[in-house]
Amino acid sequence: MTKYFYIETYGCQMNIYDSDIICSILLKSGFIKTSNLKKADLILLNTCSIREKPEKKIFNRFIEIRFLKKQNKNLKIGIVGCLATHYKNKIFEKFKFIDLIVGPDSYKNIPAMIKKLNTKNKEIDVRLANKERYSNIIPNGVRNGISAFISIMRGCDNMCTFCIVPYTRGREKSRNPNSILKECKLLYKKGYKEIILLGQNVDAYFWQNIKFFQLLELIATTVPFMRIRFLTSYPSNISKNLLKVVKKYSNICKHFHLPMQSGSPRILSLMRRKYTVEEFLLIIKMIKQMIPDCSISSDIMTGFCTETQEDHIETIRIMNIIKFNYSYMFKYSSRQGTYASRKLKDNVPNSLKLSRLNEIIRIQRSHSFYRLKQNIGKIQEVLIEGISKKDENYYFGRNYNNDIIVFQKDKSHIGSYKKVKIINSTLTTLIGEIIP
Ligand code: SAM
Repeated sequence: MTKYFYIETYGCQMNIYDSDIICSILLKSGFIKTSNLKKADLILLNTCSIREKPEKKIFNRFIEIRFLKKQNKNLKIGIVGCLATHYKNKIFEKFKFIDLIVGPDSYKNIPAMIKKLNTKNKEIDVRLANKERYSNIIPNGVRNGISAFISIMRGCDNMCTFCIVPYTRGREKSRNPNSILKECKLLYKKGYKEIILLGQNVDAYFWQNIKFFQLLELIATTVPFMRIRFLTSYPSNISKNLLKVVKKYSNICKHFHLPMQSGSPRILSLMRRKYTVEEFLLIIKMIKQMIPDCSISSDIMTGFCTETQEDHIETIRIMNIIKFNYSYMFKYSSRQGTYASRKLKDNVPNSLKLSRLNEIIRIQRSHSFYRLKQNIGKIQEVLIEGISKKDENYYFGRNYNNDIIVFQKDKSHIGSYKKVKIINSTLTTLIGEIIP
């Protein structure tokens, strides 16, 4: 009988949250979690298919774990998450040792599917729902006791031409605000200090008459002693109302993650992003005017279909104007099923995608350093998240702009807020001193 389960998570924060949902479902059904792969009767890989590189890594992992079936004849292996909805039955055809395939909206069915596996060979459920399905489940798993993700909406309606998300995670569906508030209160009671609200486009949240800025205000006032972060924001959904709420509440972090993708008007239009370069710049201006100390991070992609050197230079030009605090940068990889994979030419050679990527990474590093240095001399409130990996005599934590700060340990506890004076900066991290 299947008893011990092991789960491995790839990809974004949403997948980390979903793994906790799966843990909760399995624990409730009598399964026991193990962190020992060899002890498991059920191995689940929670997967990501957003780009080719992480996908390849996961396929290699399939091969690595396959031999475990020789040691444990009862072992079941399941693929859950975005790869499941992306490849569906094809996974069974290519990887015969896989028993279970479950898409992001079907996790509640996992226990029943495992039961059926006792008599059947394979089980698959990759149906996508048009309603949020996990409102009544409190995640239970790998949370660190200080900071917790809360999913507020799932899926995406934007249909950017490069992106697989609408196909793997389905249409936008927002979660009932009462269940979100219940989860916030529960986390507060358990001693958590920070909540990170998650969604593909948090600012598209909509439940009956409640929009994202109203939900954010509700949360900020319901758990006033908790820090609140949120990501990702779709640029053209940013509203003055949202900025007013972020500005008004001191427990809401002053940070927006706004994926720009490209600084070329032609490429933005080919990507079917819903903003122009001018509009993106105006959104940044509006944020900085209303919340001057707000940090802004982004996602940028190089080598999208037909991208020319001129398009690339435009991206660099806009990056130089904005100087994002940090960015996640990727080279474009075609995703089967998307509009771009069907209709546009993926004609930028891989070596050029890479060299452009390296160039924007180098530029972003200098911008990040420039932004970090602006903090030197300031006194900031830091939430201590743990012991620095590089030096056990140091703590690390974050300020309200999502910058990481390291500082020498004192008697303060992990999970407490401390006033820290910023005295220096490396390329990626601030260095501070606790104010006694
Ligand atoms: N909601 C976000 C937005 O506003 O676009 C998208 C989040 S997506 C999960 C994270 C990032 O992955 C995107 O912003 C994009 O930069 C990158 N990405 C998505 N599809 C990609 C592809 N086919 N190739 C390379 N990078 C991709």
